[in-house]
Amino acid sequence: MSGIDLRIPEIAAGVASGTLSPVALTEQSLARISEQSALNAFLTVSRDSALAAARALEAKRADGVSLGKLAGVPIAIKDALCTHDAPTTCASKILTRASPDAASGTTAAHGWQPPFDATVVARLRAAGALLVGQANVDEFAMGSSGENSAFGPPRNPHDPTRTAGGSSGGSAVAVAAGLACGALGSDTGGSIRQPAALTGCVGVKPSYGRVSRYGLVAFASSLDQVGPFARDTRSAARLLEVISGRDERDSTSSSRPVGNYEAACEREVKGLRLGVPEEYFGEGLDPDIKQSIQDAIARLEREGVSVRPVALPHTRYGIATYYIIATAEASSNLARFDGVRFGLRLEPTRGDLVAMYGRTRDRGFGAEVKRRILLGTYVLSAGYYDAYYRKAQRVRTLIKRDFEQVFEEVDVIAVPTSPTPAFKLGEKVDDPLAMYLADVYTLPASLAGIAGLTVPCAPTKARADRPSLPVGMQLLAPAFEEERLFTLAAAVEHLVRA
Ligand code: GLN
Repeated sequence: MSGIDLRIPEIAAGVASGTLSPVALTEQSLARISEQSALNAFLTVSRDSALAAARALEAKRADGVSLGKLAGVPIAIKDALCTHDAPTTCASKILTRASPDAASGTTAAHGWQPPFDATVVARLRAAGALLVGQANVDEFAMGSSGENSAFGPPRNPHDPTRTAGGSSGGSAVAVAAGLACGALGSDTGGSIRQPAALTGCVGVKPSYGRVSRYGLVAFASSLDQVGPFARDTRSAARLLEVISGRDERDSTSSSRPVGNYEAACEREVKGLRLGVPEEYFGEGLDPDIKQSIQDAIARLEREGVSVRPVALPHTRYGIATYYIIATAEASSNLARFDGVRFGLRLEPTRGDLVAMYGRTRDRGFGAEVKRRILLGTYVLSAGYYDAYYRKAQRVRTLIKRDFEQVFEEVDVIAVPTSPTPAFKLGEKVDDPLAMYLADVYTLPASLAGIAGLTVPCAPTKARADRPSLPVGMQLLAPAFEEERLFTLAAAVEHLVRA
């Protein structure tokens, strides 16, 4: 076992006391990234800047300066977050520009280089984290399998012929394969929780407003949240503590005090009330996943958790509602990629500025992104706005109310994260609706803006057609009650290992 296999709090403590070397930790991470490059987890590896940061940390320690909560911890960043020292491409050709490379005489692709750090990235750096690279993602965070990345999908370390989920698939793989100790992703409709479940990590979608989105390339602004991946709940708790809190640069970020998530991992579960909604256990759920989640719930009950059935009747409208609201917002957010300021610009052979926009967007965006821009423009257009967009907003309110009512009776809700374990790459790629169904259990919490977390429970049994694969239990709590999630998740983690 290497230093980077330790839990994040142990690494930070080891670095502070001098038993672990930040340079050695970075080198371990970089070596594994290169050994496992076939997993396609990273779009950019920040070798030089990570090693420079590690050396700076060693100098600080030698000077007796106290180090931060993430001192020496190698972290991967979803390539939809801005970092001033690495390109941000959102895995899109539109943010990559081909230019002749004078030295080699070939053409090289250069990603858009942000001039600033996202707030979450700046907070990680301030806490002493070492950013080892930009992780692969579905183009503009749209997708559930990684297959919308212009640079090929990340691969699941449990079976490389299978998806690692999406859209933050590269972040999940980086953590699951031990290439980094933690990662940041973003979750608009499930993009942290689903890949974490499919690869066997802990993934947290914080409440809307808990974490700043300044410097996150926007997909759907009423839904997007940044959150952590880690191999265990305490590590995820520490990451969330570092990135959470009010940011003057994001007016939607909340000034509510940040919880003590690490301490929450140590709390008793006895007496907590856990709701189990039947709407999440019906048709379409893989029987092995159902069994695994129900077993974990039964174990919690034996620990003194009070388990009761609850009803979330508007769940079935989640997919339709999300794919109207998210596409409407995306069509507006993605208007800025027009060839003028960022990345690719394709000059038309004939025509004017509008022709340049058209050619750039036609060649720069992939098929799924274009599909969503078209859908979103349609649902917002005169004559359809009331029928689709306004109606979806009303249904969103009903979904939110379902949760509010249930949270009057229970503290936390337990459901599956994904209806199936990791599916084969290529299996759903030609069927957008089948792909959208992968999000059936994660979308409602996003629409309601509440807190969500996925924690591994017992994996599926190996069968002739598939190996044993990870299963994630999704825990949901009212907005800003992330502490409850960590308390229960730590218990699940303990019980599953026992
Ligand atoms: N898979 C969902 C989608 O394609 C969610 C994506 C996300 O959360 N970014 O929209």
